Amino acid sequence: MIFSIQRYCLHDGPGIRTTVFLKGCPLRCAWCSNPESQNFWPELAWSEAGCIKCGACLRELPGVSALGERGIQIIRETPADPDAVREACPSGALHFFGERKTVQEILDAAEADSIFYGSDGGLTLSGGEPFAQPEFALALLREAKARRIHTAAETCGFVSWDALYEAGRLLDFLIYDIKSLNEALLKSQTGGLLEVSLENFKRFKKAFKPLPVLVRTPVIPGFNDSLLEIEKIVEFLAPFEGVSYELLKYHRFAGAKYKALGRPVPYPENFDEEAYGYRFDRLEDFVKKAAPL
Ligand code: SF4
Repeated sequence: MIFSIQRYCLHDGPGIRTTVFLKGCPLRCAWCSNPESQNFWPELAWSEAGCIKCGACLRELPGVSALGERGIQIIRETPADPDAVREACPSGALHFFGERKTVQEILDAAEADSIFYGSDGGLTLSGGEPFAQPEFALALLREAKARRIHTAAETCGFVSWDALYEAGRLLDFLIYDIKSLNEALLKSQTGGLLEVSLENFKRFKKAFKPLPVLVRTPVIPGFNDSLLEIEKIVEFLAPFEGVSYELLKYHRFAGAKYKALGRPVPYPENFDEEAYGYRFDRLEDFVKKAAPL
């Protein structure tokens, strides 16, 4: 179950990459910019911008109940058939996030891009959390290796050690999210357990010493955007070899997707960096100077 395949990606590992986004995540980060990635099942979405208000969905689809000023109303408990939705909606405003693909289909798509990979590009598994579908994720990595495609994955670390260990044997590069070392805050804002994520990280680095790992921290206002928080992570990472570290700037691009899924937008949509005093540049400078990362 995936929700996207993106080509020519430059920030999901070394070189130029094809990134496959697997659907489903064990976490519920309050600021998540991919809400369509969270659930493990396909989800019907409605994009107001694309709707031509033709009313065809009202006539053809049982789960669509009204077309009013606030758009169409979807009874999400009513099962919807993706083919029926595709046929009913002429503009594509009603669509699904999530579709089943086989390992072969995905690897054929990746292989078609291989001319752009050069010596270091390849396939990246992202999500959601790719190892929350462990058998599928491992089968993708195995097939990529069989086709001699460079492999990378991005994980939140809140996954089973067995899956991560098996992945380590098939990966050329790992991106590992460490969002905070504050146990209580992490639990309340993401639902994740710090102990699981850190233990997996330590075990992974011990088991796969030479494998390069890029640790990433999304810098979220009101959650971890302080020097103290970032310093703690830098200190934690310092003893490990083969680890690089980068911060990701907070952005607000997900509002339309939350609305399309009929969910409230959880973080303020109109975040004003100046008014809030968001000092990403200061934190980034600190990380750049912090030896030996
Ligand atoms: S069928 Fe599509 S374009 Fe027509 S009203 Fe429904 S959502 Fe809008």
